[in-house]
Amino acid sequence: MTSIPRRAFINISAKATAFLLMPLPLATFLKYNTMTNKDNFDVIIVGGSYSGLAAAMAQGRALKKVLVIDDGKPCNRQTPHSHNFLTNDGKTPAEIAAVANLQVSSYDTITFFYGRALTANKTESGFQIQVASGETFTTNKLIFATGIKDLLPSINGISECWGISVIHCPYCHGYEVRNEKTGILGNGDIAFDFTKLISNWTKDLTLFTNGTATLTNEQRKKLDEHRIEVVEKEIEQLEHNDGQLRNIIFKDGSMSPIKALYAPSPFEQHCKIPESLGCELTEEGYIKVDSLLETTVEGVFAIGDNASKMRTVANAVAMGTTAGMMISKKMIQEAF
Ligand SMILES: Cc1cc2nc3c(=O)[nH]c(=O)nc-3n(C[C@H](O)[C@H](O)[C@H](O)COP(=O)(O)OP(=O)(O)OC[C@H]3O[C@@H](n4cnc5c(N)ncnc54)[C@H](O)[C@@H]3O)c2cc1C
Repeated sequence: MTSIPRRAFINISAKATAFLLMPLPLATFLKYNTMTNKDNFDVIIVGGSYSGLAAAMAQGRALKKVLVIDDGKPCNRQTPHSHNFLTNDGKTPAEIAAVANLQVSSYDTITFFYGRALTANKTESGFQIQVASGETFTTNKLIFATGIKDLLPSINGISECWGISVIHCPYCHGYEVRNEKTGILGNGDIAFDFTKLISNWTKDLTLFTNGTATLTNEQRKKLDEHRIEVVEKEIEQLEHNDGQLRNIIFKDGSMSPIKALYAPSPFEQHCKIPESLGCELTEEGYIKVDSLLETTVEGVFAIGDNASKMRTVANAVAMGTTAGMMISKKMIQEAF
């Protein structure tokens, strides 16, 4: 059986703890080394969260010269605890990111740039990326690890509760609110299917359609059978304490106490550069990729939430590692 030597474990834990305790400017400096080399990169990764860092690690370990451009807005940043990612269950997203950054930044093949990528153009040998502060970088291959942006309904209080007591996924947060008084915010087929799923975690369930329900008679009958009430009243606001829900307040002045609310929401791509390069999207709005995670534009790859429905940290890391290995292998074979 192999194990991490105790000394190495203490060393990395101490470094990660020190990183977490650092004042922000210093932590930012460590996380994003000052640019020292503006030459061509083998690979530029736009997005330095879970999928982007996993791809960077695999590429950097394959001795490819990698640049990671990130502006620090992962979609789960407000959630107090991240679950269902083996070895990191229950940690904060910031803790997981701190260890990941520390490990990835130890490779001298990988450079970080803190800022927003604005545009990308095709060049003769690859691509050129421009960032908001004006610098341009060139690369052979381009990976987008840019995530998605949730389009929450415009209800007062919902943004403050997002990821805390307004939840997107039962596999990430359902266990923590099992058997609690829970609502689903949604309508029609999507809300019906979601309600079916959530009935696994609690029987104290109400569907809030925030206006006239668009359910079929059959769907209503099924919800009745499971004693799931449908509330069609329009919602005025969510009353909460620091993101922890207390009541749903309706426009007619009535209220309903609630502990958790699932809000399956539409989304858009967090970054529009892939579309501007010609990358096609699926009907659902994900970036179209093949089995090697290449988009419909040769040399451009997409990984993580922007290209997959399986919205988990584990899946983002898996896609990043896969892309990192596949792309570097392709480059090694092409160069041989
Ligand atoms: C509220 C919430 C709670 C969640 N909880 C869990 C959980 O408990 N367990 C779990 O497994 N999963 C959870 N998830 C899902 C998980 O967070 C995502 O699957 C994961 O973050 C996807 O990683 P990613 O790298 O694809 O994208 P993200 O983590 O969203 O990161 C994308 C990165 O790209 C950067 N970026 C985007 N565009 C640009 C640009 N133009 N220039 C520079 N940088 C850019 C962003 O700033 C960001 O850092 C949760 C999601 C949400 C929304």
